[in-house]
Amino acid sequence: SVRDELGAYIAKPETYGPDVVVYHNADFVAIHDMFPKSSLHLLLLPRDQTKTRLHPFDAFDDTEFLEKVKAETRTLRKLAAGELRRKYGKDSAQEQARQAALSADPPPDELPQGRDWEEDIVVGVHAVPSMNHLHVHVLSVDRYSERLKHRKHYNSFSTPFFVPIEDFPLAEDDVRRYPTEEGYLKRDFTCWRCGRGFGNRFAELKQHLEQEFKEWKKL
Ligand code: 5GP
Ligand code: ZN
Repeated sequence: SVRDELGAYIAKPETYGPDVVVYHNADFVAIHDMFPKSSLHLLLLPRDQTKTRLHPFDAFDDTEFLEKVKAETRTLRKLAAGELRRKYGKDSAQEQARQAALSADPPPDELPQGRDWEEDIVVGVHAVPSMNHLHVHVLSVDRYSERLKHRKHYNSFSTPFFVPIEDFPLAEDDVRRYPTEEGYLKRDFTCWRCGRGFGNRFAELKQHLEQEFKEWKKL
């Protein structure tokens, strides 16, 4: 089934090019999402055979395993932040201020700090994954992508349907364990950046996301 297709990456990561597999080690494979829902969208796949078929909520009940996954996501978050800096760094207001200070004569004693792109990366899982192999999403916050084509694409990353890795272990009575009852994917759209509501007007949301993307990367 197509739901099993992430299995190939953990079985034979070495058979893919760097445009697909970002890195792999004994315990994890990091890949590019084939249908990215943000301008940068990676997936972290744990290779542990006893976990890969489990729902993330169940897999992460094992606290030792959870800590290992969290540690690896910190590595991947750094790598993703570096990628954002390469893609957008030169456009950002902070970087321009830094460059101006560097070229001043004489240069100031203290240079303006660079932007911390790690703050612009979100890491987490879907309450109801569509793909069977355990995977953690690591993506830029922008939700700006041609592949973001449906209501559920936006809401699955922009409502409590998306559960940040930092929130694990989940409490027994956490409502996010019952996502269908909460109806997260059917909610009205809310901009991730300014909080503006868009009802169910997807085309309008998409236009707004493009505006927000342009401003966000130049911050
Ligand atoms: P889920 O909703 O299961 O948490 O997300 C699964 C993710 O896997 C989606 O973002 C989807 O775009 C991505 N995906 C689906 N099939 C493939 C594939 O064959 N290769 C890669 N690299 N990503 C895939
Ligand atoms: Zn907005």
